[in-house]
Amino acid sequence: MLVDSHCHLDFPELRSELQALLARMATNGVTHALTISTTLEGFAGVREVARSQPNLWCTAGVHPDERRDGRETTVEELLRLANDPKVVAIGETGLDYFRIEGDTQWQRERFRVHIRAARACAKPLVIHTREAAADTLRILEEEGAAEVGGVMHCFTESLEVAQAAMRLGFLISFSGIVTFKNAKALKDVARHVPLERMLVETDAPYLAPVPHRGKTNEPAFVRHVAEEIARLKAVSLEAVAEATTRNFFALFRQARPAS
Ligand SMILES: [Zn+2]
Ligand SMILES: [Zn+2]
Repeated sequence: MLVDSHCHLDFPELRSELQALLARMATNGVTHALTISTTLEGFAGVREVARSQPNLWCTAGVHPDERRDGRETTVEELLRLANDPKVVAIGETGLDYFRIEGDTQWQRERFRVHIRAARACAKPLVIHTREAAADTLRILEEEGAAEVGGVMHCFTESLEVAQAAMRLGFLISFSGIVTFKNAKALKDVARHVPLERMLVETDAPYLAPVPHRGKTNEPAFVRHVAEEIARLKAVSLEAVAEATTRNFFALFRQARPAS
């Protein structure tokens, strides 16, 4: 039993194939997935996918790479979107100084709004951070994000950053990047993050793991991420599956079905 803690099933290349993706999840023992919101306009589509299946949930939020020239979201709006049994977290939110050049103050403001919404509805946060670890950790701390916790998704930072995030009550989620041969530093981080604090994800349709690198990613491939973690930590795939599945259901406060 494995859970894909982060994917984008509303993106056209996955949405158009949903039934086949669900069948391949089942064949590979991937029992559940969390499909992640990135825009306000796309939220209804994300929620529709989640509502269509008992083993899918979704989030509400605006991605830090999503430039909005017009209106920014508000705490009130996020609370309205999150007020739904299928919405189990706020995000993905955070900071991305790699993709966005120039003034990034709007990213930090938007990030703070998401943390305030998460605290107000007592739902955990799904955090995206890229080349912005220090500011991400600082804002999580300043805004009291430890009260709700969450997950650092698609983790690619150092062990020090992982440890600081774990101290704030966040889990560390590894994606297909950990299977890449050149990801030596990240493999080492994965060896040191305890299974009790770990999730696995695909971030599909992006970042397909080895041996599917370069293809469209899908939730069934989370199995390759879990296999690599098992290899790195010298434990069984079952141990990785059991721990990451338990962590997922605890973080997102869902009753775990009997397997
Ligand atoms: Zn992301
Ligand atoms: Zn994502």
